[in-house]
Amino acid sequence: MQYNLIRLVIPILFAFLITHCTSPIKPNQHHIIGLQPIGQYAPGQLQFIQKELHAFFKVPVVILKGKDMPVSFINRSKGERYSADTLIKWLADNAPDSITKIVGLTHKDIFTTVKENGHIKGPAASYAVWGIFGLGYQPGRSSVISDHRLQTSNIPCFKHRLRTIVIHELGHNQGLPHCPTPKCIMNDANERIQTVDQSGDTYCSLCKGKL
Ligand SMILES: [Zn+2]
Ligand SMILES: [Zn+2]
Repeated sequence: MQYNLIRLVIPILFAFLITHCTSPIKPNQHHIIGLQPIGQYAPGQLQFIQKELHAFFKVPVVILKGKDMPVSFINRSKGERYSADTLIKWLADNAPDSITKIVGLTHKDIFTTVKENGHIKGPAASYAVWGIFGLGYQPGRSSVISDHRLQTSNIPCFKHRLRTIVIHELGHNQGLPHCPTPKCIMNDANERIQTVDQSGDTYCSLCKGKL
């Protein structure tokens, strides 16, 4: 009887350790990821991100009640782009206490100002309002992801792009910097669409070692 119980307990314990150790989020923290739709956001796409993040990070992922995009965050110098820097601050400041990481999701175009040695990188006409896929604190609590620049008629390719960008920004939230390993999801090439498509699906062993 006791022997049978041990035979049952050992595989359960082993399975628990495997799932616990393979989570890329530090297991001693009780993480809950909150997905924050900003403006109208496709429900099927939200559910896709929820499922992918849950499978990858092995933590609860909840969908929060939608919020309107604050109009004051807009910049009209190159069409309509919203400030990603302002969005991640706003998301962090307004996140529910129960949420440890908040991911803002929008279909609108977002931008940041690219700086070099404390000044706007030249040519300023390009880099002052630079369109991006996503931005996240490094480390920190919030990120924002726009699918505006990820569009393609190839659905599996679109899903790969979206998943890659969200996990990349959550990596920054966990303190990971850009990584030189080819195909690592934290490779800074993942800020260009041509290479997002060739990205692998996970953090490399170097990055995992830093978590
Ligand atoms: Zn990055
Ligand atoms: Zn890496």
